[in-house]
Amino acid sequence: MDQGLTPTVEPVSKLIQELNKLPGVGPKSAQRLAYHLLRAPEEQTRLLTEAILSVKQKISLCSVCFNVTDADTCLICRNDQRDRSQICIVEQPQDILALEHTGIYKGLYHVLHGAISPTEGVGADDVRIKELMNRLQGSSVSEVILATNTNLEGEQTAMYLSKIISPLSIRITRLAQGLPFGTELEYADDVTLTRAIEGRQEF
Ligand SMILES: [Zn+2]
Repeated sequence: MDQGLTPTVEPVSKLIQELNKLPGVGPKSAQRLAYHLLRAPEEQTRLLTEAILSVKQKISLCSVCFNVTDADTCLICRNDQRDRSQICIVEQPQDILALEHTGIYKGLYHVLHGAISPTEGVGADDVRIKELMNRLQGSSVSEVILATNTNLEGEQTAMYLSKIISPLSIRITRLAQGLPFGTELEYADDVTLTRAIEGRQEF
């Protein structure tokens, strides 16, 4: 554990250590959370523990789009009201939440679970691109929306996807307008995202 924190008994320091491993939780926040949980009613901590365990036990990935699901296919793939001619390609399942929150996109999704990054040794085979291509082959999909992040990895991934999808003569668009370079979709606000979907451009 980092220096400068109050030394504490083992179960507490262990909890701090584990919380500190979570994204966005630094040593100070981990300490604050740990002491919050220490003071919280037992019922609250029990619900939290159960929620964490149940995510690990009951949740898997959709066999079609790789979104998180508690069944073979996810709620979006199962929904008859969704437009099956459009597939929006995102990096992470939480990007779907952000886009769904805008309420304007009615198509399907495909989650890559990452982005191509030669510098970090992540190639096309390390994300769900093969599965996407299998899905597109002989499908009735008429438009693919590239909604990868607007950072270097996201742009590289979009370029690569555009190159391999174009022979399939499917319209390829990219979320662009309003999203500044370096934006992670998950953190974009509704107005910006809505504008980005509506203003998507041929890619
Ligand atoms: Zn799905």
